Amino acid sequence: KTPVPSDIEISQSCILKPIDQVAKEVGLLPDEVELYGQTKAKVHLSALKRLKNQPDGKYIVVTGITPTPLGEGKSTTTVGLVQALGAHLHQNVFACVRQPSQGPTFGIKGGAAGGGYCQVIPMEEFNLHLTGDIHAITAANNLVAAAIDTRIFHELTQTDQALYDRLVPSVNGVRKFSGIQIRRLQKLGINKTDPMALTKEEVSLFVRLDIDPGTITWQRVLDTNDRFLRKITIGQSPTEKGFSRTAQFDITVSSEIMAVLALSDGLDDMKKRLGRIVVASSRRGEPVTTDDLGVTGALAVLMKDAVKPNLMQTLEGTPVFVHAGPFANIAHGNSSVLADKIALKLVGEEGFVVTEAGFGADIGMEKFFNIKCRYSGLRPHVVVLVATVRALKMHGGGPAVTAGVPLPKEYMEENLQLLAKGCSNLNKQIQNARMFGVPVVVAVNAFRTDTKAELALVVQLAKEAGAFDAVECTHWAEGGKGAVALAQAVQRASQTPSNFTFLYNVELPVIDKIRLIAQQIYGASDIELLPEAQKKVALYTKQGFGNLPICMAKTHLSLSHDPEKKGAPTGFILPVRDIRASVGAGFLYPLVGTVLSSYKRYLKLGVSLSLIVGVLTVQYIR
Ligand code: ADP
Repeated sequence: KTPVPSDIEISQSCILKPIDQVAKEVGLLPDEVELYGQTKAKVHLSALKRLKNQPDGKYIVVTGITPTPLGEGKSTTTVGLVQALGAHLHQNVFACVRQPSQGPTFGIKGGAAGGGYCQVIPMEEFNLHLTGDIHAITAANNLVAAAIDTRIFHELTQTDQALYDRLVPSVNGVRKFSGIQIRRLQKLGINKTDPMALTKEEVSLFVRLDIDPGTITWQRVLDTNDRFLRKITIGQSPTEKGFSRTAQFDITVSSEIMAVLALSDGLDDMKKRLGRIVVASSRRGEPVTTDDLGVTGALAVLMKDAVKPNLMQTLEGTPVFVHAGPFANIAHGNSSVLADKIALKLVGEEGFVVTEAGFGADIGMEKFFNIKCRYSGLRPHVVVLVATVRALKMHGGGPAVTAGVPLPKEYMEENLQLLAKGCSNLNKQIQNARMFGVPVVVAVNAFRTDTKAELALVVQLAKEAGAFDAVECTHWAEGGKGAVALAQAVQRASQTPSNFTFLYNVELPVIDKIRLIAQQIYGASDIELLPEAQKKVALYTKQGFGNLPICMAKTHLSLSHDPEKKGAPTGFILPVRDIRASVGAGFLYPLVGTVLSSYKRYLKLGVSLSLIVGVLTVQYIR
């Protein structure tokens, strides 16, 4: 029986500092802090301006080996590390973590506030609603969706003049263009500011976006896993006169607006990114943007509070920023640039900011470096790579696990052979981090079932693989005290020179960038672009988006595209079935894996489900 109480029991038994006290302790001024009750506060971006001449602290990113269903504990380790640095080694420290989506919180995954004696508290506030940022994104996202369909409907049912009257209404006989409309006219090559001076042809060009409905990439969103909204028909009311089409609801955190929030470095930058989001193509093949739809201003207003990072605390009273939570597959899976920037100023030159990157180092860390650091201009000092004995055993060929069923004995008893084999994954992820020129500290997150010999083996193999250091830690069971050795290793690593470099130059052709990631980071021998992906390379290059960084949408469960391939597979050809663009956020995202391979997985699931149903039926008949 574990002596560690449940996460919620620990979270609720703890005495919290009033959040305004936390704000004062980190050096924020009263007018930079907006309280949301006693336990949460938003921090104004003016703090960044005030502290602009203050040198940044050390920037630490927490990542992991390739995830398994056994869980590795990246969030737990992020919190454990700051508790050790802040509460035990008395350093200025900040943790920057993502806000979780309500969908997975109520699904299999559960919350994301850490675990055991390393949590952001109160965990229910952290996991649900927080200060409403995700709700703001839902509102902004759906405003764009409504604007797209309304615009298509009006353009199909109204004359040029009626559309003009709607867009540029005559008030007391005077028409006036808004700033956003003048931008659109300039884009069309019409340099006129007097609405009465437009020719008939120019009016027609101005009022018609001529969106090709088949090219719409913008979906409605909701922060709930509601499977019955995955495919819907919209426009069924008689008022829509039969203009219906199939559409879908996605989860809010997959909205490009979330990725925009995470990558913006200020209000103006966010507004620019919000305005250049591409939602579809016109029938002429030109990209149609949110700015073309005329909604940029509305989006910026809806997001004006969401742009401010949220201040919370850990179980040991150290400060935490919770801000943004983009998906780690179709987006980059990292918390916000703004939270990191403010935190780096607040901790000062000698302090530490620990930020977390989603999934394994091949995904979250690669995107942290190549996308987030590229846009923020921030340079990381240390990579902390989390590994567990149990997960490494699975990478060594340990059996699959089923939720609700006791773990197979391989994970409960010592098995050095399986473990040594699975360290191939740890080795590859260490190489991946080193490829960027940053020192790596491996955190071996100890579970009750791990033996001394097993923990020692991981430490030894990590060091042999080139880690700066590798440390066993027990923070989940002991809080910050259990991560003091890790914190000291991080302190030492942060003193060594970091020779950070990007993996690729963004000016390289799209295909070359994808190939570099596949070969260098995943271990692929080559890539294969399926026809749809080839078409998109040509389209995006023509539209001028070819020089965006790449955000691979690949399974997180393997270094390859096949979730069943554990360890460190090599020699495979990585299939890219399609490529999409998040132009506002600023990246292209290739969809990795063939539809066939996903089908195969479903088929397998289907077969096992029918087997279960079959067995049950037989038993019932008997
Ligand atoms: P990740 O960030 O890698 O997804 P989390 O930090 O959220 O992982 O941890 C996943 C789950 O595993 C949490 O419920 C956490 O309480 C649990 N966990 C983490 N480390 C340990 C440990 N050493 N012993 C037992 N449970 C742990």
